[in-house]
Amino acid sequence: MSTDRVIFSRPFRASRELANLEAVLASDHSHGDGQFTASATAKLKTITRAPHALLTTSCTSALEMAGLLLELGPEDEVIVPSFAFTSTATSMALRGATCVFADIDSATGNLDPESVAAAVTERTKAVVVIHYGGVAADMDRLLALAAQHGFAVVEDNAHGLGGSYRGRPLGTIGTLGTLSFHDTKNVHCGEGGALLLTDEILMARAEIIREKGTDRARFLRGAVDKYSWQDIGSSYLPSELNAAVLDAQLDEFDAIQSGRHRVWDAYAAGLADWAARNDVRLMTVPDDRAHTAHLYYLRTPTEQRRDDLIGHLASLGISAPFHYVPLDSSPAGLKLGRTPRACVRSAEFSGTVVRLPLWPDLRDDQVARVIEAVTAFSV
Ligand SMILES: *Cc1c(COP(=O)(O)O)cnc(C)c1O
Repeated sequence: MSTDRVIFSRPFRASRELANLEAVLASDHSHGDGQFTASATAKLKTITRAPHALLTTSCTSALEMAGLLLELGPEDEVIVPSFAFTSTATSMALRGATCVFADIDSATGNLDPESVAAAVTERTKAVVVIHYGGVAADMDRLLALAAQHGFAVVEDNAHGLGGSYRGRPLGTIGTLGTLSFHDTKNVHCGEGGALLLTDEILMARAEIIREKGTDRARFLRGAVDKYSWQDIGSSYLPSELNAAVLDAQLDEFDAIQSGRHRVWDAYAAGLADWAARNDVRLMTVPDDRAHTAHLYYLRTPTEQRRDDLIGHLASLGISAPFHYVPLDSSPAGLKLGRTPRACVRSAEFSGTVVRLPLWPDLRDDQVARVIEAVTAFSV
């Protein structure tokens, strides 16, 4: 058995990356909104069927744009899951809004609609939902609450490019959706992101916010003969160098996804008996959702056994990390947020989750080695 380390994640390398980068450097146009931005944006719109998409410098900046577009302010509350990445909350807190933490559903790690319903007040302006691991949250129930109470739904879809819920592409179901192209994500360009929109009015404003508050995008289309300061904004557009890498990656999207699903399916099949014998919960995907194989995780009965399993795998050269630390009890969460009901399922999920190595080029013998190492451990 080989003893090379099995790392948790390795950024994908697409074959056209270097050629695309050379083309950008040779073109004297490496700032944003050039031909690779246009090409990558078109590919994202095809994958997601989003009417509008804007590349951004990160998913965090796309979430910040969402906060600006929703005109969040200090009077507003935004409901966010306790079990989440910091950007999900801090992008809203940056606008002065209060984060109201809600609990998750233990089956998927996603925002629980009942906890959301209990957290709604007349100040609730939005809910931010994560599709954890690329498995959709319970969107119909969240959309029903949003319609009933008149708040927006932001999908932090950093994990879910290409996934769907009841046939609808993730990132296009709520008011606004965001994507991440950080190099730990399925498709990457080092650092990058995108904002997906369906609403024409929000799109017109988003273009301006992304370009330092100017109507440069309209100018580039020839719709106005000069551009000027129109609105508040920032610099949220990525350079063509990033877009060039992203475009090369999107050319190979299907191969990336099938490589990841091969690993995911092998874990699901290879761990099922062991999980049943050891009271371990494997990642599950409800029938009405197509997932993206962003993560493969399992959950042990206790935190102690989770830490022991991580140690056991590390001793065999396999890195298998835990994940988010609950936001509601974090220093900033305590200061900038409010937790109407204790998020007990989030704490339990956070304390028992382990993620297994998963990337498209992980070899079958390495996958077999991970399965062998995991199943040699009795929980
Ligand atoms: C990675 C991630 C982000 C942040 O993405 P960046 O592109 O690094 O800003 C936000 N939310 C979730 C759920 C993530 O996994």
